[in-house]
Amino acid sequence: MNYHITIGHLYPDLLNLYGDKGNIAALQKRLEWRNISVEIKEFCVNDTIDFSALDLVFLGGGSDREQQIVCNKLSEQKAELKEYIESDGVLMAVCGGYQILGKYYQVQNETVDGLGLLDFYTENKSERLMGKVVIQSGLFDDYIVGFENHGSRTYTNHLPLGMVKHGNGNNGEDHMEGVIYKNTIGTYLHGPLLPANPKLTDWLLTKSLERKYGQDAPKLTPLDDTDEDAARNYIVKNYLK
Ligand code: GLN
Repeated sequence: MNYHITIGHLYPDLLNLYGDKGNIAALQKRLEWRNISVEIKEFCVNDTIDFSALDLVFLGGGSDREQQIVCNKLSEQKAELKEYIESDGVLMAVCGGYQILGKYYQVQNETVDGLGLLDFYTENKSERLMGKVVIQSGLFDDYIVGFENHGSRTYTNHLPLGMVKHGNGNNGEDHMEGVIYKNTIGTYLHGPLLPANPKLTDWLLTKSLERKYGQDAPKLTPLDDTDEDAARNYIVKNYLK
């Protein structure tokens, strides 16, 4: 059987902070290395998105201005995106892309309605939260590492992507980083995140394949992650003392 995954990269021209586009490269390469064909569809603000034709959706991070353009645009397709998330569609959203999925976020002193698709809100503070982050997720044993740079603090009722072992995460107070709801992940972690964390990449790919092919989904063959593991372990060793 030939397997195929279609990845929707939303607004790469607006949301691409700190190499977030590298997440797409990681997803693509880890499918190709397993002989699973992959198509990347890039969407710009004038495009209408057919979420039913996508197996994995990625939203990167962006500055306040770009974030607002994207939020306005996606609010026109809120129902379709909600249907995608609720039907176990696989979605990863980073920082600015993450914040817009919640009830509201703040730009300076102005409160902006989010898409209201997930149960969290985001408030702005003048001091930015920046630096390396190490978290422990419930999804697998390996630590997840990344880089954060955000002025806002997110407070959620969802399960976090992981618990903060180093850094700030959602708000620097409750030790939670990101959210996980069904097959949707929101996170503050840039880096880009996925090349450094192959287990997370494979989690997203596995969920996409299972949603699309059900019982017939292929098991992902193991890859040689020696270099990725060495890079991640170096950060873990240096920041978890
Ligand atoms: N404007 C948001 C913040 O600073 C998002 C920034 C980002 O995507 N890195 O909180």
